[in-house]
Amino acid sequence: MRCVIARTSQLHASLTQTTFIAVKPDGVNRRLVGKIIQRFEEKGFQLVAMKMIQPPRELVEEHYAEHKGKGFYNGLVDYLCGGPVVAMQWKGKGVIARSRAMMGATKDAAPGTIRGDFSIEVGRNLVHGSDCAEAAEREIKLWFGEDKINYEDACEKWIYE
Ligand code: ADP
Repeated sequence: MRCVIARTSQLHASLTQTTFIAVKPDGVNRRLVGKIIQRFEEKGFQLVAMKMIQPPRELVEEHYAEHKGKGFYNGLVDYLCGGPVVAMQWKGKGVIARSRAMMGATKDAAPGTIRGDFSIEVGRNLVHGSDCAEAAEREIKLWFGEDKINYEDACEKWIYE
């Protein structure tokens, strides 16, 4: 989904903002799950749901519905269905925009980002993150339904002013 909300307003979103992040099958097979999770944990975001799933084709087609008809669509669906995905929900202030920045751009991501540090090709870019609040809500519903665990964030006062 293409987001129209200005990035700056997203950064000041509430502490309860939640996004959908997925480690794609290349990330799982390359044993990068731990490193990717570590980046979000170290930033200060809170993990509120996680599962490993071999996604059915219909789920991936629905997830990437906006790309249907594009030249890379079938390859993209094959790629996501080609192995297990680690699906997660992460919570925190501005987590949607901040996690997108941490992931890096779709193509030619900058060094220092997850994609920039660990991947080369756009079609093997390791990680997905919702690009706006509407997308996060839609993707969480699609991959998790209502499943998440709301637990007290014990270090919240050390992360937020
Ligand atoms: P992002 O994942 O950064 O939000 P998009 O929503 O534009 O990017 O694209 C979804 C996914 O489709 C990308 O992460 C990438 O895996 C794949 N993709 C996008 N553009 C291309 C392309 N030109 N060729 C191959 N794969 C692509």
